[in-house]
Amino acid sequence: MTASPIQDESRLCVHSITTKPWTIEEAAKYYAREGVAGITVWQNALEGRDPKIVGRMLREEGLTVVSLCRGGFFPASDAKGRQKAIDDNRRIVEQAAALGAPLVVLVCGAVPKQPLSVSRQQIQDGIEAIRPEAEAAGVKLGIEPLHPMYADFRSAVNTLGQANTMAEQIGSPSVGVVVDVYHLWWDPDLESEIERCGWNRHLFAFHICDWRVPTEDLLTDRELMGQGCINVPEIRGWVESTGFNGFNEVEIFSTRYWGEDQLEFLRKIKRAYRSAS
Ligand code: ZN
Repeated sequence: MTASPIQDESRLCVHSITTKPWTIEEAAKYYAREGVAGITVWQNALEGRDPKIVGRMLREEGLTVVSLCRGGFFPASDAKGRQKAIDDNRRIVEQAAALGAPLVVLVCGAVPKQPLSVSRQQIQDGIEAIRPEAEAAGVKLGIEPLHPMYADFRSAVNTLGQANTMAEQIGSPSVGVVVDVYHLWWDPDLESEIERCGWNRHLFAFHICDWRVPTEDLLTDRELMGQGCINVPEIRGWVESTGFNGFNEVEIFSTRYWGEDQLEFLRKIKRAYRSAS
Protein backbone atom coordinates (compact mmCIF):
# COMPACT_ATOMS: atom_id res chain seq x y z
CA MET A 1 0.00 0.00 0.00
CA THR A 2 1.34 3.44 -0.94
CA ALA A 3 0.50 6.16 1.53
CA SER A 4 -1.89 8.95 0.65
CA PRO A 5 -0.21 12.18 -0.50
CA ILE A 6 1.11 14.58 2.10
CA GLN A 7 -0.98 17.75 2.24
CA ASP A 8 0.72 19.85 4.90
CA GLU A 9 3.68 20.10 7.28
CA SER A 10 1.81 19.10 10.43
CA ARG A 11 3.79 15.85 10.71
CA LEU A 12 7.06 17.15 9.28
CA CYS A 13 10.01 17.00 11.65
CA VAL A 14 13.51 18.04 10.65
CA HIS A 15 16.68 16.79 12.36
CA SER A 16 18.93 19.64 13.47
CA ILE A 17 21.88 17.88 11.76
CA THR A 18 20.06 18.28 8.43
CA THR A 19 20.72 22.02 8.63
CA LYS A 20 24.06 21.58 10.39
CA PRO A 21 25.44 25.06 9.56
CA TRP A 22 22.62 26.63 11.62
CA THR A 23 22.80 27.00 15.39
CA ILE A 24 19.88 25.44 17.25
CA GLU A 25 18.44 28.94 17.74
CA GLU A 26 18.58 29.63 14.00
CA ALA A 27 17.10 26.22 13.21
CA ALA A 28 14.24 26.86 15.65
CA LYS A 29 13.47 30.25 14.18
CA TYR A 30 13.50 29.17 10.54
CA TYR A 31 11.78 25.80 11.06
CA ALA A 32 8.95 27.54 12.88
CA ARG A 33 8.73 30.29 10.28
CA GLU A 34 8.53 27.71 7.48
CA GLY A 35 5.82 25.73 9.22
CA VAL A 36 7.91 22.69 10.21
CA ALA A 37 6.11 21.12 13.16
CA GLY A 38 8.79 19.11 14.91
CA ILE A 39 12.52 18.97 15.58
CA THR A 40 14.85 16.16 16.50
CA VAL A 41 17.85 17.60 18.27
CA TRP A 42 21.35 16.28 17.68
CA GLN A 43 23.77 16.49 20.55
CA ASN A 44 26.26 18.69 18.72
CA ALA A 45 23.54 21.38 18.67
CA LEU A 46 23.46 21.35 22.49
CA GLU A 47 27.17 21.90 23.05
CA GLY A 48 27.75 24.65 25.58
CA ARG A 49 24.02 25.02 26.22
CA ASP A 50 21.61 24.05 28.97
CA PRO A 51 19.23 21.46 27.45
CA LYS A 52 16.40 22.74 29.64
CA ILE A 53 16.72 26.24 28.20
CA VAL A 54 17.01 24.89 24.65
CA GLY A 55 13.89 22.76 25.13
CA ARG A 56 11.93 25.75 26.41
CA MET A 57 13.13 27.90 23.51
CA LEU A 58 12.04 25.24 20.97
CA ARG A 59 8.58 24.94 22.51
CA GLU A 60 8.21 28.71 22.65
CA GLU A 61 8.83 28.73 18.90
CA GLY A 62 5.92 26.27 18.62
CA LEU A 63 8.04 23.23 17.77
CA THR A 64 7.47 19.75 19.15
CA VAL A 65 10.69 18.16 20.39
CA VAL A 66 10.51 14.70 18.83
CA SER A 67 13.73 13.06 19.98
CA LEU A 68 17.34 13.43 20.97
CA CYS A 69 19.98 11.91 18.70
CA ARG A 70 21.87 10.02 19.77
CA GLY A 71 22.79 7.53 22.45
CA GLY A 72 24.22 4.06 22.02
CA PHE A 73 27.73 2.87 21.15
CA PHE A 74 27.48 0.23 23.86
CA PRO A 75 30.00 -2.42 22.67
CA ALA A 76 33.61 -2.20 23.84
CA SER A 77 36.43 -4.69 24.01
CA ASP A 78 36.72 -4.45 27.80
CA ALA A 79 34.39 -4.11 30.78
CA LYS A 80 35.68 -0.64 31.59
CA GLY A 81 34.75 0.59 28.14
CA ARG A 82 31.30 -0.97 28.37
CA GLN A 83 30.70 0.64 31.77
CA LYS A 84 31.76 4.02 30.41
CA ALA A 85 29.24 3.63 27.59
CA ILE A 86 26.48 2.87 30.09
CA ASP A 87 27.43 5.93 32.17
CA ASP A 88 27.46 8.09 29.04
CA ASN A 89 24.01 6.83 28.07
CA ARG A 90 22.63 7.57 31.52
CA ARG A 91 23.76 11.16 31.03
CA ILE A 92 22.13 11.23 27.59
CA VAL A 93 18.84 10.06 29.10
CA GLU A 94 19.10 12.90 31.66
CA GLN A 95 19.84 15.32 28.85
CA ALA A 96 16.75 14.13 26.93
CA ALA A 97 14.58 14.53 30.00
CA ALA A 98 15.88 18.08 30.52
CA LEU A 99 15.31 18.91 26.87
CA GLY A 100 11.79 17.47 27.04
CA ALA A 101 12.54 14.88 24.34
CA PRO A 102 10.40 11.75 24.79
CA LEU A 103 12.83 9.52 22.87
CA VAL A 104 16.56 8.85 22.63
CA VAL A 105 17.61 7.35 19.31
CA LEU A 106 20.26 4.68 19.75
CA VAL A 107 23.05 4.19 17.23
CA CYS A 108 24.08 0.97 18.84
CA GLY A 109 27.80 0.63 18.04
CA ALA A 110 30.14 -2.23 17.19
CA VAL A 111 33.78 -3.15 17.72
CA PRO A 112 35.76 -4.05 14.59
CA LYS A 113 36.97 -7.68 14.67
CA GLN A 114 34.71 -8.52 17.61
CA PRO A 115 31.98 -10.89 16.37
CA LEU A 116 28.79 -8.98 15.58
CA SER A 117 26.82 -11.40 17.74
CA VAL A 118 29.00 -10.47 20.74
CA SER A 119 28.48 -6.77 20.02
CA ARG A 120 24.74 -7.33 19.78
CA GLN A 121 24.70 -8.99 23.20
CA GLN A 122 26.65 -6.07 24.66
CA ILE A 123 24.14 -3.68 23.09
CA GLN A 124 21.25 -5.55 24.64
CA ASP A 125 23.01 -5.63 28.03
CA GLY A 126 23.70 -1.88 27.76
CA ILE A 127 20.08 -1.06 26.99
CA GLU A 128 18.93 -3.27 29.87
CA ALA A 129 21.33 -1.41 32.17
CA ILE A 130 19.96 2.05 31.36
CA ARG A 131 16.33 1.00 31.03
CA PRO A 132 15.37 1.73 34.68
CA GLU A 133 16.68 5.31 34.46
CA ALA A 134 14.98 5.82 31.10
CA GLU A 135 11.67 4.50 32.44
CA ALA A 136 11.93 6.66 35.56
CA ALA A 137 12.63 9.73 33.40
CA GLY A 138 9.78 8.94 31.00
CA VAL A 139 12.24 8.71 28.10
CA LYS A 140 11.90 5.95 25.54
CA LEU A 141 14.84 4.23 23.86
CA GLY A 142 14.71 3.58 20.11
CA ILE A 143 17.04 1.01 18.54
CA GLU A 144 17.89 2.28 15.06
CA PRO A 145 19.24 -0.45 12.77
CA LEU A 146 21.98 0.89 10.50
CA HIS A 147 22.80 -0.18 6.95
CA PRO A 148 25.27 -3.11 6.97
CA MET A 149 27.99 -0.90 5.48
CA TYR A 150 28.23 0.55 9.01
CA ALA A 151 28.65 -2.82 10.72
CA ASP A 152 32.36 -2.19 11.32
CA PHE A 153 32.01 0.22 14.22
CA ARG A 154 28.74 2.14 14.03
CA SER A 155 26.24 -0.64 14.56
CA ALA A 156 26.01 -4.40 14.89
CA VAL A 157 22.24 -4.06 14.51
CA ASN A 158 21.73 -3.97 10.75
CA THR A 159 18.24 -5.19 10.03
CA LEU A 160 14.85 -4.32 11.42
CA GLY A 161 14.44 -8.02 12.20
CA GLN A 162 17.43 -7.89 14.58
CA ALA A 163 16.16 -4.70 16.19
CA ASN A 164 12.67 -6.16 16.61
CA THR A 165 14.02 -9.32 18.19
CA MET A 166 16.11 -7.28 20.62
CA ALA A 167 13.19 -5.04 21.58
CA GLU A 168 10.94 -8.06 22.05
CA GLN A 169 13.52 -9.83 24.22
CA ILE A 170 13.92 -6.74 26.40
CA GLY A 171 10.15 -6.62 26.59
CA SER A 172 9.61 -3.10 27.92
CA PRO A 173 7.11 -0.57 26.55
CA SER A 174 9.99 1.93 26.84
CA VAL A 175 12.25 0.11 24.37
CA GLY A 176 11.41 0.01 20.68
CA VAL A 177 12.80 0.57 17.21
CA VAL A 178 13.41 3.40 14.77
CA VAL A 179 12.82 2.86 11.05
CA ASP A 180 15.11 4.88 8.78
CA VAL A 181 14.51 4.38 5.05
CA TYR A 182 18.17 5.09 4.27
CA HIS A 183 19.32 2.10 6.30
CA LEU A 184 16.53 -0.35 5.56
CA TRP A 185 15.13 0.23 2.06
CA TRP A 186 17.03 -2.73 0.56
CA ASP A 187 15.73 -5.35 3.01
CA PRO A 188 13.37 -7.91 1.40
CA ASP A 189 11.74 -8.43 4.81
CA LEU A 190 11.14 -4.75 5.45
CA GLU A 191 7.37 -4.74 4.98
CA SER A 192 6.78 -7.70 7.29
CA GLU A 193 9.23 -6.40 9.89
CA ILE A 194 7.51 -2.99 9.91
CA GLU A 195 4.25 -4.81 10.43
CA ARG A 196 5.83 -6.76 13.28
CA CYS A 197 7.07 -3.74 15.23
CA GLY A 198 3.98 -1.70 14.41
CA TRP A 199 1.53 -4.14 15.86
CA ASN A 200 3.80 -4.75 18.83
CA ARG A 201 3.59 -1.01 19.47
CA HIS A 202 7.31 -0.54 19.52
CA LEU A 203 7.71 1.42 16.30
CA PHE A 204 8.82 4.70 17.85
CA ALA A 205 10.08 6.86 14.97
CA PHE A 206 10.31 7.12 11.19
CA HIS A 207 13.27 8.79 9.44
CA ILE A 208 13.29 9.74 5.76
CA CYS A 209 15.73 10.90 3.09
CA ASP A 210 16.94 9.24 -0.12
CA TRP A 211 19.86 7.16 -1.38
CA ARG A 212 21.86 9.15 -3.90
CA VAL A 213 22.89 7.32 -7.09
CA PRO A 214 25.82 6.98 -7.30
CA THR A 215 26.63 7.65 -3.67
CA GLU A 216 30.03 9.27 -3.31
CA ASP A 217 30.40 9.23 0.46
CA LEU A 218 29.09 6.56 2.80
CA LEU A 219 28.13 9.03 5.50
CA THR A 220 27.53 12.49 4.15
CA ASP A 221 25.99 12.10 0.72
CA ARG A 222 22.32 11.55 1.46
CA GLU A 223 19.68 12.94 -0.84
CA LEU A 224 16.37 14.74 -0.72
CA MET A 225 13.35 12.48 -1.00
CA GLY A 226 12.59 11.75 -4.64
CA GLN A 227 16.16 12.31 -5.85
CA GLY A 228 17.47 8.80 -5.27
CA CYS A 229 16.35 5.19 -5.49
CA ILE A 230 14.24 4.72 -2.35
CA ASN A 231 10.47 4.45 -2.70
CA VAL A 232 9.71 6.58 0.36
CA PRO A 233 5.90 6.75 -0.14
CA GLU A 234 5.70 2.97 -0.30
CA ILE A 235 7.64 2.54 2.95
CA ARG A 236 5.61 5.33 4.60
CA GLY A 237 2.51 3.43 3.53
CA TRP A 238 3.74 0.32 5.32
CA VAL A 239 4.56 2.36 8.42
CA GLU A 240 1.18 4.13 8.47
CA SER A 241 -0.77 0.93 7.88
CA THR A 242 0.38 -0.22 11.33
CA GLY A 243 -1.38 2.77 12.86
CA PHE A 244 1.80 4.82 13.28
CA ASN A 245 0.84 8.49 13.34
CA GLY A 246 4.05 10.08 14.55
CA PHE A 247 6.33 12.45 12.67
CA ASN A 248 8.03 11.96 9.33
CA GLU A 249 11.55 13.01 10.26
CA VAL A 250 13.84 14.37 7.57
CA GLU A 251 17.42 13.38 8.36
CA ILE A 252 19.86 14.31 5.62
CA PHE A 253 23.63 14.40 6.13
CA SER A 254 25.04 16.01 3.05
CA THR A 255 28.14 18.12 2.59
CA ARG A 256 26.56 19.10 -0.72
CA TYR A 257 23.45 20.61 0.93
CA TRP A 258 25.33 21.94 3.95
CA GLY A 259 27.24 24.09 1.47
CA GLU A 260 24.03 25.71 0.21
CA ASP A 261 21.96 28.52 1.65
CA GLN A 262 20.14 26.67 4.44
CA LEU A 263 16.85 28.51 4.06
CA GLU A 264 16.75 27.56 0.37
CA PHE A 265 17.58 23.99 1.38
CA LEU A 266 14.78 23.97 3.96
CA ARG A 267 12.33 25.08 1.27
CA LYS A 268 13.59 22.28 -0.99
CA ILE A 269 12.95 19.86 1.87
CA LYS A 270 9.37 21.10 2.15
CA ARG A 271 8.80 20.64 -1.59
CA ALA A 272 10.35 17.16 -1.57
CA TYR A 273 8.33 16.31 1.51
CA ARG A 274 5.05 17.07 -0.22
CA SER A 275 5.93 15.68 -3.65
CA ALA A 276 8.09 12.62 -2.92
CA SER A 277 7.53 11.39 0.62
ZN1 ZN B 1 17.98 7.90 11.24
